[in-house]
Amino acid sequence: MSPDGDAWYEAAPFGLADADGRRRVEDGLRFSCTMCGNCCSGVPGTVMVNVREIVALAERLGVREDDFLQRYTKVADGGVSLVERLTAYGWDCVFLDRTSVPGIALCGVYSDRPEQCRTWPFWKRNLVDERSWARASATCPGINRGPLHPASMVRLTRDASPI
Ligand code: SF4
Ligand code: SF4
Repeated sequence: MSPDGDAWYEAAPFGLADADGRRRVEDGLRFSCTMCGNCCSGVPGTVMVNVREIVALAERLGVREDDFLQRYTKVADGGVSLVERLTAYGWDCVFLDRTSVPGIALCGVYSDRPEQCRTWPFWKRNLVDERSWARASATCPGINRGPLHPASMVRLTRDASPI
């Protein structure tokens, strides 16, 4: 964990500039997912899965763990990542479902999604400083909108995030 991230985020209340450039001070961060699918797509990347998640996902899909590994994962960053498939939107996670509900991108394994997905957008790397949070908001329209997530909850989520 970045000491800078701690220094930045532990220093509640947390301040962000609003759309008019005014400084707004809140003890937390706003986030509400629009189900756009951006965080599950784009350029090739990694969605890391650990052993517990692999077991759960294989069971959910009714396949053996070695079959799951072969069909749905790749080796990446010294671990195991879900694979992607090229769609009209970019490289979608293999479990991204754009067809069940028109106009909405759903996670096809939502209740068993990896910790990396559960903890977005409160990742350590997104909370290093205000700029990193702003960078994440450039691709995630759910950031800085919707309900306020209390700083205590944001910190817990950040500390649980694998990246
Ligand atoms: S990019 Fe943000 S708003 Fe879009 S699906 Fe991901 S979390 Fe939700
Ligand atoms: S597992 Fe679900 S939430 Fe995670 S990247 Fe894939 S589709 Fe998105």
